[in-house]
Amino acid sequence: MPDSALLLLRDVFGHAEFRGGQEAIINHVAAGGDALVLMPTGGGKSLCYQLPALLRMGTAIVVSPLIALMQDQVDALRQLGVRATFLNSTLSAPDALEVEQALLAGDLDLLYVAPERLLTPRFLALLDQLSDQSRIALFAIDEAHCVSQWGHDFRPEYRQLTVLHERWPQVPRIALTATADAPTQREIAERLQLEGARHFISSFDRPNIRYAVEAKDGGLRQLMEVIDRHRGASGIVYCLSRRKVEATADALREQGIDALPYHAGLDAEVRAEHQRRFLREDGVVMVATIAFGMGIDKPDVRFVAHMDLPKSMEGYYQETGRAGRDGEPSEAWLCFGMGDAALLRQMIENSDAPDERKRVEHRKLDALLGYCESTACRRQSLLAYFGETYPQPCGNCDNCLSPVASIDGTEIARKALSCVYRTGQRFGAGHVIDVLRGSDNARVRQFGHDTLSTYGIGRDLDARQWRSVFRQLLATGLLESDLDGHGSLRLGASSTPLLRGETTLSLRMDPARKAARRERGKRDGAATPAMLDDDAQRRFDALRAWRGDSARSQNLPAYVIFHDATLREIAVNAPTDLDALAQINGVGAAKLARYGDALLEVLSTAA
Ligand code: ADP
Ligand code: ZN
Repeated sequence: MPDSALLLLRDVFGHAEFRGGQEAIINHVAAGGDALVLMPTGGGKSLCYQLPALLRMGTAIVVSPLIALMQDQVDALRQLGVRATFLNSTLSAPDALEVEQALLAGDLDLLYVAPERLLTPRFLALLDQLSDQSRIALFAIDEAHCVSQWGHDFRPEYRQLTVLHERWPQVPRIALTATADAPTQREIAERLQLEGARHFISSFDRPNIRYAVEAKDGGLRQLMEVIDRHRGASGIVYCLSRRKVEATADALREQGIDALPYHAGLDAEVRAEHQRRFLREDGVVMVATIAFGMGIDKPDVRFVAHMDLPKSMEGYYQETGRAGRDGEPSEAWLCFGMGDAALLRQMIENSDAPDERKRVEHRKLDALLGYCESTACRRQSLLAYFGETYPQPCGNCDNCLSPVASIDGTEIARKALSCVYRTGQRFGAGHVIDVLRGSDNARVRQFGHDTLSTYGIGRDLDARQWRSVFRQLLATGLLESDLDGHGSLRLGASSTPLLRGETTLSLRMDPARKAARRERGKRDGAATPAMLDDDAQRRFDALRAWRGDSARSQNLPAYVIFHDATLREIAVNAPTDLDALAQINGVGAAKLARYGDALLEVLSTAA
């Protein structure tokens, strides 16, 4: 059995080796076992049911909540020569009938079904006809966290999927999710009656993603630096509000970027069209609220940028996880300013949620702020949050690459806190910083703040460094921001011991501005795939152009034909015959037969 799995992996999917836990999962399910699979986005979950589907007799029934994406998944499988199709409300009655007949005739390896369709008496009866000859290969339940009432993606129909187990107890089930936390995991096992299933929990590390967090400092210009590192590549830019989505998308288009907005306020048709363009075309930058992204399995998203704070570490990890599913170097970049946290707090307070829920959300936001201000390795912090230990600093995050000093900030914090106190706890950080730095401006004089004992005691730090200090004081709760949206600061409860000298505080001390620029310059390009030499680059460009034509003529997304990583490997190795081409990762038998000659032709003309 293991041997045939590996053979199929190479021959059908064109991959040389299994990744992480794939092999164990595939063997377990192929042998008839139930499995609950937790793997990060991009970890390679689909293969965990697609390969057993080919190894076992009959048709695998794949439950997926994402109707819009079934087509692409099926297209990708068909490109590999796998007999796959889907059944959902987008099909006409005659087409649906045809699918049903193919299922009964045993002509399908995989059938994707929407949960509401699966649960219809008609479809269940159809499956009954199959089971007599034990021709349901397995049930795969994708996005299994949709069963959880507490998640953002709750789907009531998922609760009824236990019917599968009740009616066909002998058919193995595999439930998959990228949601990491333990309570959700327990809820999935319980609600889907998978307590007896083997649990396969992968590391949630995404080694090819570089994490970076920056203080907001002219956000759009900073965003352009990120985009410039990935020119011509696809990316996602998340903003908190619809208005900011629109404004950011407009500003990017003015800079010549192929940027599209996406948020719940747009027409369903416009949204679908923007999503379609993002999926199908090379190099579209999607500017979106978090309404965008669930189930987007475009493999070659090179960066995910957050222009505002996400709501929680969970949200942040899920959103950034959409970068680099293909395993190529990618970037997760977040920039945040002092006002962001206050705004989010206000949104939590103003929501209709019960108090207990609000407290949870405030705590989640605290954790995220702590992460942003930390000087520790980002990967270590992220994985620690999800209960995983990463043995050493990763070497692939901003804090590892340009370490930030952590200093004893007790004295600095005391200056800041006293100044907030002496100015009456009714001003925002900007004004307090002016007082600390001894600025001689009208507002300072108007309130007589130039006569305070704290006036000018903070000249040793520049305004940017002070802003960082204030953010950290807010993040640690030493300062609190009022929730009315004016951003005025007051002392937090924990500030008393610090002011009394009973506790100390360490602070992250960002380098002064010029140095920071240089550091950034040094990093440029490192979060992107390796540079190709001129010849290879020419071949790569030619291959991409060919792929674009081929995708358009078949009405398919480009990545369904070949991933960038595959084209890059072809461009580097420049194979001259089909045997050599077959060795490339991502070139399986069906694609070799279909595209091999065309590829060699492209290579010979680009030589
Ligand atoms: P997930 O559903 O977990 O987010 P996918 O199943 O979409 O991830 O896989 C992510 C990407 O990794 C896909 O582009 C897939 O082709 C690729 N992949 C999966 N398994 C392997 C493997 N063993 N070797 C190389 N690439 C793989
Ligand atoms: Zn690191």
